[in-house]
Amino acid sequence: MAKETHEFQAETKQLLDLMIHSIYTNHEIFLRELISNASDAIDKAHFESLTNRDLLEGDDAFEIFLVPDKESHTLTISDNGIGMNKEELIENIGTIAKSGTKAFLEQLKKAKESGESVDDKEMIGQFGVGFYSAFMVADKVTIVTRKAGEQQAWKWESAADGNYTIEETEKEKRGTTITISLAKEFAGDAAEEDFTDQYKIESLVKKYSDYVRYPIKMNFETEEIPKDKDGKPIKDAKPEKKTEVRTLNSMEPLWTKNKADIKKEAYNEFFKNQFHEWEDPMEVFHTKAEGSVSYTALLCIPAHAPFNLYQQDYEPGLQLYSRHVFIMDKCKDLLPDYLRFMKGLVDSPDLSLNISRELLQQSRELKVIGRALEKNILKALGRKLKSNREDYEKFWNEFGKSLKIGVYNSMYSGSSDTREKLQDLLLFLSSKEGKLVTLKEYVERMPESQKKIYYATAKDKETIENLPQMETLRDKGIEVLYLLDPVDEFCLETLHAYEEKPFHSISRGDLDLDDAESQEVKKETEELQKDNGDLMKDIKEALGDKVADVKVSSRLKSSAVCLVADEAGPSLSMEQAFSDMKN
Ligand code: ADP
Ligand code: MG
Repeated sequence: MAKETHEFQAETKQLLDLMIHSIYTNHEIFLRELISNASDAIDKAHFESLTNRDLLEGDDAFEIFLVPDKESHTLTISDNGIGMNKEELIENIGTIAKSGTKAFLEQLKKAKESGESVDDKEMIGQFGVGFYSAFMVADKVTIVTRKAGEQQAWKWESAADGNYTIEETEKEKRGTTITISLAKEFAGDAAEEDFTDQYKIESLVKKYSDYVRYPIKMNFETEEIPKDKDGKPIKDAKPEKKTEVRTLNSMEPLWTKNKADIKKEAYNEFFKNQFHEWEDPMEVFHTKAEGSVSYTALLCIPAHAPFNLYQQDYEPGLQLYSRHVFIMDKCKDLLPDYLRFMKGLVDSPDLSLNISRELLQQSRELKVIGRALEKNILKALGRKLKSNREDYEKFWNEFGKSLKIGVYNSMYSGSSDTREKLQDLLLFLSSKEGKLVTLKEYVERMPESQKKIYYATAKDKETIENLPQMETLRDKGIEVLYLLDPVDEFCLETLHAYEEKPFHSISRGDLDLDDAESQEVKKETEELQKDNGDLMKDIKEALGDKVADVKVSSRLKSSAVCLVADEAGPSLSMEQAFSDMKN
């Protein structure tokens, strides 16, 4: 087959452009990304070999091999993982499948077009760019790969000029070898950063990839002064060059170490390395439990919510290990869905290594661990809310939606338990100083005559503040929750009430204010309604089917009319949300 030239998909080009023009100044992380891909590929080979031993062709010494070459200005990363065939090369390397990345690029483009100042670094932190990060340091990248179980090997090459080539080649061992032809800033003694320097590579592996569970090896060159027969260095002798293969990473799982011995940076690097995070996590949980079921869990709340957190293609779940041996990625059966943003792993000797996904779901051990983790996480969040409001609000702004959806979904799972667990963790924007408040805070400062928790729904604060209904409440100094996200109202409607105070939309029926003044007004209104019965009837007839009823209202101050929802029916904004869903 002749060499084929392919064009990168438009989004890939865009991403490559961003990479080359170096939005991310931390170039060295490319090595972490390529090592993590190699490790993923070995995981896959290992996993498939469990059911198909022949796949390994007798080579089960999994390893990643690095070759920095000063002469050719290249750095090579090889693995004996699963490898790729031609289709996979095109699919996985030439196109961006991840919707999160696409969403990111679109957002970036929009922001730039509208002239917003964009913090690239901040934004790129929200998604992983993986393989493409190689182009931050490369003039050219060459991949030679052979898929396990197949004979034909393939060579892929690109200078990031919008195209890449693919051609047939030969490769004896299965797996992938990636050769980076380093740009002049990144190779040689005069370079800004020299990625052909063995000491540099060694320190990067230690920094970013120490816990990778396969050996990362490198030919290490040393110089030694020759010794005489007594083992003493010979004076004035020329140093001898020696080469030895060294394993650079400790492979010691971080979570097995003592908490007291682990520095914050080590945790941070671990999560970035293991879970493809670009930023230090917001919060780390490291727990060991011993009892009927023993386990160690190392979990984190990431710094930012991924773009696709609420989309179909987002795969929640934790990694599972048994006695430090990897069982599976993305186990969904541990944590409830409203904690889908948590990343991390659980290692338990009580889990069986060869368990199928189906059996795992029913595993009692898994349920016990899951429940304990859930409880710990919620407790920690509760503590944060009390002790560090600013941090909690940061968390809330990223992941609050998950908890609100959790409350709403509990309606279907029939779990009032979930509602109870989550209700004190919810925050809503309030008319009170325009701040986020908890339901408890709201209820605690309610005047005694107030029997309900009032809320208003709209796209933004201004719209709510201009609602005619707000006038009365503002005059009376009654606090109103501003629900700006459609899920907010679903959440409150599912809760129904908090501390026996029902939620009440201000655009629904009677406001039902029970103070003396309101009682007075109510009486007056009823009389007015009676006196003006004919007028109301006429208006209703004129409007026909468009309205259910026309009433004299006491809730207006300066506006002449307002639309309200029926007492029993859905509120106006829920109607809107329903009709949005239908479309
Ligand atoms: P991610 O690792 O998040 O999937 P990357 O951009 O790092 O994204 O890699 C894209 C894809 O390319 C991987 O999902 C994998 O299918 C493939 N790939 C990359 N490196 C290797 C490798 N060394 N061996 C096999 N497949 C690889
Ligand atoms: Mg990757």
